[in-house]
Amino acid sequence: MILIINCGSSSLKYQLYNPDLTEVVAKGLIARIGENGSYAEHFVGQERLVMRRAIPDHKVGFDVMVDNLLHSELAVIEGPQAITAIGHRAVHGGDIFVESTLVDETVMEQLHACARFAPLHNPCNIAGIEECLRRFPGVPNVVVFDTAFHQSVPREAHVYALPYELYSQWGIRRYGFHGTSCRYVSQAAADILNRPLEDLSMVICHLGNGVTLDAVKAGRSVDTSIGFGTFCGIPMGTRSGDFDPAIIFHLVKERGMSVEEVEALCYEKSGLLGVSGVSNDMREVMERAEAGDDRCALAVDIFVYQIKKTVGAYAAAMDGLDALVFTAGIGENSKEIRSRVCAGLGVLGVRIDERLNSMVRNGHPNISAADMRVATLVVPTDEERMIALDTYRLVSDSIRFPAPITSFAPTYAERV
Ligand code: AMP
Repeated sequence: MILIINCGSSSLKYQLYNPDLTEVVAKGLIARIGENGSYAEHFVGQERLVMRRAIPDHKVGFDVMVDNLLHSELAVIEGPQAITAIGHRAVHGGDIFVESTLVDETVMEQLHACARFAPLHNPCNIAGIEECLRRFPGVPNVVVFDTAFHQSVPREAHVYALPYELYSQWGIRRYGFHGTSCRYVSQAAADILNRPLEDLSMVICHLGNGVTLDAVKAGRSVDTSIGFGTFCGIPMGTRSGDFDPAIIFHLVKERGMSVEEVEALCYEKSGLLGVSGVSNDMREVMERAEAGDDRCALAVDIFVYQIKKTVGAYAAAMDGLDALVFTAGIGENSKEIRSRVCAGLGVLGVRIDERLNSMVRNGHPNISAADMRVATLVVPTDEERMIALDTYRLVSDSIRFPAPITSFAPTYAERV
């Protein structure tokens, strides 16, 4: 079986796949690690185990995960030997990692070197790998990077017009994020359209608490909205999205704010929360906008406008558009946001059928109006599955797996 680990700063998520990746045998979440109110949830099919207990650090978090998988009343494996490979999510691979890779000593050193770009995330990812190396000796570990998919972005789109040495000597450039999601969703979209990925130019709208718009041409990311840090591009739950950097100098020099305060402002106090003043949660902001709250309405207007503008820019960057694909919490669930983004994109060949837009949950991923040049799709993302597929691919040479991988589209049909 393949175990997938997503180790965040205060959480540990896991999924256990059966060997041919057709089924998630068990999954779970250890939340609020090192904080008050930590708890663990473990799911097997429809059954759920919840445990509230102190989980002071990730080591204890791993104890809880192993206990849930091996010894709980919802245990699914008899011993650690049932785990044949482990796949890890890593946030930042710098410009070292252009694809997923098997973990060895050199990779661990390089991962440490990349931590300077993601000081909050990479150390947790590394800690997760180290725990697995210790607990499951001899089992191959694969690491899958959020940034790797965007390493194909050409240099005119990833180099900033700053002194070149910042790029060449310090690695300051556009890296992008949500690459694992965008890669999965673009392949799933090609499967749904029954067309080769190589023939398609798509814009992926990953609209969740974090937001990425990604231009994907012939299966390669050619431009992406997030840059060096994770707050630029489209406004997000609490992150600002793009704004004039002169504002930072103004806040520091004229308003006496410290760098740390401005950083917190950009990452934690802006976006939907900053404009609405009430919430980082799109559902809540939309409900209040509906009830007449003007700042909530403005927060949604800004969100929609920036997405629409970027879709147009990416269509131009790719010399055309074949598919517009919505994914993640907002993209998958909000027919209103999809409708508002698509309104007025007729100039690009985008128009949706509002009846189909209301039916995606019934297994209708294609919401385009009849005869439109651009297919508009709603595709649930599945980063864990992408990590499992990469892990399978990288270890199947060394380990005999019993069955072939299934394609992407059936998973979609099962999940909607
Ligand atoms: P994610 O980070 O992918 O889990 O997405 C979380 C975001 O999706 C939050 O802002 C939620 O409010 C938003 N979301 C989930 N369901 C809906 C919905 N039906 N309408 C609008 N936003 C939604």
